[in-house]
Amino acid sequence: MESLQMDIKFIKGVGPKRKKQLNKLGVRTLEDLFYYIPREYDDRSLFKKINDCSDGDKASFKLKIIDKPIVLRPRRNMSILKIPVTDGHTNAYLTWFNQEYLKNQLIAGKTYLVNGIKQRRAGEIQISNPIFEEEGRGNLIGKIMPIYSLTEGLTNNILSKILKKAFEDYGYLLEEFIPSKIVDKYGLMDIKKALKNIHFPENLDIFIRARNRVVLEELITLQLGLYTIKNRNTSERVGLVFKEDNRVLEFIKLLPFQLTDAQKRVYKEISEDMNNNKNMNRLIQGDVGSGKTVIALMSMLRAISSGYQATMMAPTEILASQHYESITNFLKGMDIRVDLLVGSLKKKEKEKVLEKLKSGETDILIGTHAIIQEGVYFNKLGIAVTDEQHRFGVKQRSALSDKGLNPDVLVMTATPIPRTLALILYGDLDISIIDELPPGRKEIETFSVGFNIMDRINGFIKKQLNGGRQAYIVCPLIEENEKMSINSAEEVYKSLKENEFKEYKLGLLHGQMKTKEKDEVMNAFKLGDLDILVSTTVIEVGVDVPNSNTMIIYNAERFGLAQLHQLRGRVGRGEYQSYCILLNDSNTQISRERMRIMQNSSDGFVISEKDLELRGPGEFFGTKQHGLPELRVANLFRDMKILKLAQKESDRIIQSDPFLQDHDNLKIKNKIKEKFRTIKDISFN
Ligand code: ADP
Ligand code: MG
Repeated sequence: MESLQMDIKFIKGVGPKRKKQLNKLGVRTLEDLFYYIPREYDDRSLFKKINDCSDGDKASFKLKIIDKPIVLRPRRNMSILKIPVTDGHTNAYLTWFNQEYLKNQLIAGKTYLVNGIKQRRAGEIQISNPIFEEEGRGNLIGKIMPIYSLTEGLTNNILSKILKKAFEDYGYLLEEFIPSKIVDKYGLMDIKKALKNIHFPENLDIFIRARNRVVLEELITLQLGLYTIKNRNTSERVGLVFKEDNRVLEFIKLLPFQLTDAQKRVYKEISEDMNNNKNMNRLIQGDVGSGKTVIALMSMLRAISSGYQATMMAPTEILASQHYESITNFLKGMDIRVDLLVGSLKKKEKEKVLEKLKSGETDILIGTHAIIQEGVYFNKLGIAVTDEQHRFGVKQRSALSDKGLNPDVLVMTATPIPRTLALILYGDLDISIIDELPPGRKEIETFSVGFNIMDRINGFIKKQLNGGRQAYIVCPLIEENEKMSINSAEEVYKSLKENEFKEYKLGLLHGQMKTKEKDEVMNAFKLGDLDILVSTTVIEVGVDVPNSNTMIIYNAERFGLAQLHQLRGRVGRGEYQSYCILLNDSNTQISRERMRIMQNSSDGFVISEKDLELRGPGEFFGTKQHGLPELRVANLFRDMKILKLAQKESDRIIQSDPFLQDHDNLKIKNKIKEKFRTIKDISFN
């Protein structure tokens, strides 16, 4: 049957070879092909006169060749081909390096369409390395050219031809699925015309309208899908009821401090979910140090009060162990049994932990991904907490809740993201925000400096160490290349150890060390046996050493602001004045601006908002990292306006038709099903 889900091999001109190439690009179905969006566009639609262009402008020109070609040979193995042309007013040269053969393709007296950059060189006007075609004999110039990401053997041109054929033969399969109310309200371009213009833009105006439509269609499907999941979770899945809270009251009495108002408010939101049979799926967002862990612990104690078990999952062993320690500490004086499950446990220990878990002897299990492996059985899981959400996706979240009979789920993240983005990245969750730090926290003094005053910085660190404090030195991840970034941390470590900090004790920590080695180093640092910890960003999440008050970040310009903020949160956790020194090796305006933001703000929400403005949503904010369907067209930052619109409209739809049963909403519901198909445990009916 002909449908958008049909294999691309049915398109005329797509044989086994092409099919393979297209598959490599992730294009399997007809729909994939229609939505294989160009990587970029080369706008060759605008024709100009040479004189109307400034130096460096790129444009299309209509030029006549007025003389024979000139070939220069400034060096052996080098030729410069110059072809004299005119646009009727101005004379110029088309020039190429080492492409002398082109002189036979460009014939004097004929007129060509040319696209390239106008440049003034040595008193002449040149258009160097242009693309060209004889007037009336080509289709490369005079239009907006889509440029696709390609694979070996597949050219832009071939892909274009396949698309053309696909539109001719199967374009009719593209049917409107956006609810007609929205189509009418915004005068949306017809889906077929829009997609056609994505691949074959008629002109800039139509193209922009086409793109907007496809972006809206994508975002509204995603947002509406997430809202539907949330609806289904809350109304179809009956949650557990935790009526008792005696252990929570006991805990609060033992707490050495008062909860902040924000903590109280968030706990109240949580207890409302827990107190009735609403299946809780809630995100706690709060800056580093805002006290999320305490709230998570109270929620777990609430479940335990009613006879259930609780679990908390962290993204790294270091973090899991730390939670284990601090939670055990918090619970001193209470009869609560806490266990730790991480990959590095010996077989015997692990078996024991699993046994206790299964028999119900364990109240709280803390651990890493090891918790969601097979063979881990709870006796009666009531609540699952995951820490540092951005490392877990929707899928892992549901794997965790599969361990029990619909346990409540609480997700903690220290990544403050603007509300609009949160609604999409965590669209399946309710959101609680701790927007207040416990009192008495000292502002971390932040400086941005260049490497030229390294000596002074080292002097400053020594002063801190001599006063009994400790310091972190963080080296950046280099271009996603873990190996190299480890080298850089290793190098810094060696050089400091052998030179400036000979008299001090240094430790090194990076992601490729064995867990045991990492733990040893971390423990030594915690115990104060090390003065300085040189590391890659592995210390980013949650590490807690109150005595460490100084953080130096090498090549701070390479980090995202949100990440710098997280790193900075490692200091300022004790009673001492803390410092964060950003070594900035870039002098661009944007990097100076970014450093300025870090110096002036300690509010994670402000910082992430600015980061978005300056950098766009890097991979940190990618939907894929959050386990959501990948966005093919929309850019969460650039298309923020459309995202807001999509949210407003999705909200409206879901208010009046929570399960998308209205006739007008059935088609988009089907799209949603398809879009979320790959995400386990998310089914619609
Ligand atoms: P987060 O997990 O949000 O980064 P934590 O829960 O680890 O923050 O809290 C950071 C530190 O602040 C911990 O040492 C914790 O004991 C302490 N803390 C938490 N809440 C309060 C509060 N209301 N008053 C004082 N200290 C608090
Ligand atoms: Mg509940």
